[in-house]
Amino acid sequence: MKPPPFDYHAPRDVAETLEVLAASGEGGKVLAGGQSLIPLLNMRLAAPSCLVDINRVAALDTLEVEPGGVRVGALARHAAVERSPAAARVQPLLRAALRLVAHPVIRNRGTVVGSLVHADPSAELPAVLAVLGGSVRLARHGGATRDVPAEAFFTGPLESALEPGELAVSAFFPSPPPRTGSAFQEVARRHGDYAIAGAAAVVGLDEDLRVTAARVACVSAGPVPVTVDVTDACARRPAASVPWDAVADAVRGNVDPEEDIHASARYRGHLTGVLAVRALRLAAAEAGRAEERAAGGVTGGAE
Ligand SMILES: Cc1cc2nc3c(=O)[nH]c(=O)nc-3n(C[C@H](O)[C@H](O)[C@H](O)COP(=O)(O)OP(=O)(O)OC[C@H]3O[C@@H](n4cnc5c(N)ncnc54)[C@H](O)[C@@H]3O)c2cc1C
Repeated sequence: MKPPPFDYHAPRDVAETLEVLAASGEGGKVLAGGQSLIPLLNMRLAAPSCLVDINRVAALDTLEVEPGGVRVGALARHAAVERSPAAARVQPLLRAALRLVAHPVIRNRGTVVGSLVHADPSAELPAVLAVLGGSVRLARHGGATRDVPAEAFFTGPLESALEPGELAVSAFFPSPPPRTGSAFQEVARRHGDYAIAGAAAVVGLDEDLRVTAARVACVSAGPVPVTVDVTDACARRPAASVPWDAVADAVRGNVDPEEDIHASARYRGHLTGVLAVRALRLAAAEAGRAEERAAGGVTGGAE
């Protein structure tokens, strides 16, 4: 099928982009990697009156890595972030999740920020932003820039806090505190497919390696990434003696997955608990290794 007719603009800088978006109002849509938007247009599931192609706006093709976190510009492709050793060192969960996003060809075009704005509850990156407590920076013509935290950014399936006329200029993924590990686990029918279920986990340990913070963000488990704090369920114990069955039940009690042709809601809920615990255990092990490296004065290489 072919898309419905639309006006096309290809601005060269951010100011021009914001002007065109302001003038296009409700009918304006940003075109980034096009890996989600173009199929939606071709299937006539979206009919914007104006496409604002940001692919020539070089100022948005940025990846800033600082000790406090990774800021990903709107034109940074999945592949560029995945392959950045510096980004993986400061926030390893990004690379772990990006390796599960679609296939290399799609990752060469698709953008991290586009994936967040697309806000598919089956996608990996919204869960990563949610579990890390990251944020998305939005800008508009003649208005103030605003940073929207993940918990307010995802408002429903394929819906976000982005308003007509706004451009998402970047997303920020904070770095983990000391003695903290992370992991991503998912099950998909084929590698590269959207996940039937999945979980991003972050675990923090104290100096005696007891779990002091543990949370997961679950994929395909509700209308938005479902974040569950399971610190209490981990009972401040070392990972080896955490009551993991109780943790899995705590996660399952917070998710509300839907049935589709790939899985029943019941199976998806069960799987979410299993994957959450797998991810939490891996994250706790990673946190332990981070502590060993810190104690031994060895710098962690994430490449
Ligand atoms: C075969 C296939 C398999 C895939 N599998 C997966 C998968 O397993 N996991 C996964 O997470 N994704 C998957 N994807 C989607 C892929 O990750 C896309 O790259 C991503 O969803 C959207 O990024 P994009 O840059 O292509 O955005 P686009 O398609 O260009 O845009 C998507 C939406 O976001 C808006 N948008 C984009 N950027 C901005 C911005 N800067 N400001 C405001 N609005 C913006 C657009 O207007 C549009 O509404 C798959 C895609 C394909 C084609």
